[in-house]
Amino acid sequence: MENLLVAANWKMHKTLQEAEEFAEDIKAAKAKASLLIFPPSPYLARLSALLEGTSIEVGAQNMHAEEKGAFTGEISAAMVKSCGASRVLLGHSERRQHFGETNASINGKVKAALKHGLKAMLCIGETSSERESGRAMDVLRAQLEECLGGVSAKEAGRITIAYEPVWAIGTGKTATPQQAQEAHAFIRKTLSGLFGKEYSKTRILYGGSVTPENAVSLFREKDVDGALVGGASLDVGKFLKIGNAG
Ligand code: PEP
Repeated sequence: MENLLVAANWKMHKTLQEAEEFAEDIKAAKAKASLLIFPPSPYLARLSALLEGTSIEVGAQNMHAEEKGAFTGEISAAMVKSCGASRVLLGHSERRQHFGETNASINGKVKAALKHGLKAMLCIGETSSERESGRAMDVLRAQLEECLGGVSAKEAGRITIAYEPVWAIGTGKTATPQQAQEAHAFIRKTLSGLFGKEYSKTRILYGGSVTPENAVSLFREKDVDGALVGGASLDVGKFLKIGNAG
């Protein structure tokens, strides 16, 4: 198995200057995990240039499924690539909740990202009512099947999954290591069923109120391959501590 991957989702935070300072700080620091930053899209080119030659990757928080056209305010996969970014985060629950994204529309974005050579990080996760009614695993299966429909086994090699229970994002309520492990093992099994045995190696990150404190026990779980971090990733010290927690 590869080393852990710890990714920062900055959402709509930081000025360009603050983003540059963060990049300079992590460039100078050491982390056991591989690091990845999803900054606001206006900073993609600048951060990619600042981090060029390092192992720290940069990715977009979202993109449009179409190649180009009259879609004011949107960015395409080719634009993301041309900024030097290697990844794109797709299907985040905030995109589903506030911008009407569905498994079907996310599927279009996943296919467009892979077609353009990007690595896609697909976010999936159940709501609290879905968990309480015992449907969490069914929801995860449907999200995987529908968001990854039409993706070839070869392309699936560039997919990373972020398991983010919606009830844990930005709430301070982290999944227990056991809950995360159960979901990750289920996701791994589902991916093998969809694409073949070798896809059991796909990296599956946990996301939802990860902190330097709880990262240690989450990273001990066999199927937790890293973390997607929101709030705690805004602070370079906390982010690096999570990067060294494994
Ligand atoms: C996220 O936005 O992907 C996330 C996990 O946020 P937080 O760490 O703040 O819960």
